[in-house]
Amino acid sequence: MSLPQFKLLRPRTLADAIGHLDKHASNLRVIAGGTDLIPSMRQKLFEPEFVLDLRHIPELKGIHERQESGVEVGALTSLTDIEHSALLRRRYPVLTEAAATVASPVIRNMGTIGGNICLDTRCLWYNQSLTWRKGCGFCIKKDGDLCHVAPGGTKCWAAFSGDTPPALLCLNADVEIVGPAGSRRIPLREFYTGLGDNYRTIQPNELLTRVFLPESSADYSGVYRKLRIRGSIDYPLAGVAVVMKRSNGHIADARVALTAVNPAPVLVKGASERLAGKVMDEALAEAVGDLAARTAKPLTTSALTPEYRREMIRVFTKRAVLAAAAN
Ligand SMILES: Cc1cc2nc3c(=O)[nH]c(=O)nc-3n(C[C@H](O)[C@H](O)[C@H](O)COP(=O)(O)OP(=O)(O)OC[C@H]3O[C@@H](n4cnc5c(N)ncnc54)[C@H](O)[C@@H]3O)c2cc1C
Ligand code: SF4
Repeated sequence: MSLPQFKLLRPRTLADAIGHLDKHASNLRVIAGGTDLIPSMRQKLFEPEFVLDLRHIPELKGIHERQESGVEVGALTSLTDIEHSALLRRRYPVLTEAAATVASPVIRNMGTIGGNICLDTRCLWYNQSLTWRKGCGFCIKKDGDLCHVAPGGTKCWAAFSGDTPPALLCLNADVEIVGPAGSRRIPLREFYTGLGDNYRTIQPNELLTRVFLPESSADYSGVYRKLRIRGSIDYPLAGVAVVMKRSNGHIADARVALTAVNPAPVLVKGASERLAGKVMDEALAEAVGDLAARTAKPLTTSALTPEYRREMIRVFTKRAVLAAAAN
């Protein structure tokens, strides 16, 4: 599968990158590590005239501790740097744990946190070659008008399958978005739409530039568990992140978030309230597992059945909250 032809733009500053976006946004794709974009371009899912390469913009890289306001992570920071950051491992362990499970070491060297947050949603009927998709009559997400997963519907249910966003949701992270009209900072939970085909609120002429981890979420214990087919390299087919703070043997605060079982990563509603003030035991962990399983809405977008993936959300959530309480 060859790459389609495109013109490569290589800005050296953020201002230059925004200039290119202002001019060409309607026919351009942004590339960071390229570990998701390049395979998708080979499959002819995207055939942009311009590709905007962010890799030579130093201001988008790095992990910086800010006095009393937490930690800022540049969108171009590699997943390897996040995985091995002593600062993040000490203060936001759920993020380093989730980053360490992405793909393989080689892909984590190339892949970035910004690319992981902006990752395209995935589906068995979409992440295929042009010939394969043509043979099936295409689908709503690309070139067609029907959904093979939910026939008769008009909505795309492709699953968001990034590993770090559920960890970031648990940490109440914000993201910075920059475009020709200026910059804005929004909570990550507002970044996703919940639609499989139009999954981000970011505009085509905007870039994700920084991730903010608040001081108020630092020093929580953190656990990430994921289900995948090949243990050494695969995307999650169900993923659970948990953060927890304890005081005098009781849970002072906790959050649970899921990935790969909905068109967006989601916080489990009611989990924090259920856990706060309690002492952890099997029954409580099971109750939170049930809540998570009810939040998960997997469909036949992957090789594993929705029933199995939902059950694994229940099992992983139970194990993850028990592990977070034991840390
Ligand atoms: C074999 C294989 C296994 C994988 N396994 C996993 C896995 O287990 N878990 C997982 O989470 N991912 C997995 N991935 C996907 C991918 O490697 C990671 O999600 C990675 O973090 C993507 O980052 P990137 O910098 O390479 O993104 P890119 O491929 O460069 O970009 C991904 C998307 O984000 C957009 N984008 C990137 N940066 C920005 C930005 N700053 N602002 C606006 N838009 C932007 C791009 O336009 C593109 O649409 C896998 C990929 C492969 C090939
Ligand atoms: S969920 Fe339906 S519309 Fe979306 S990618 Fe899959 S088959 Fe296509």
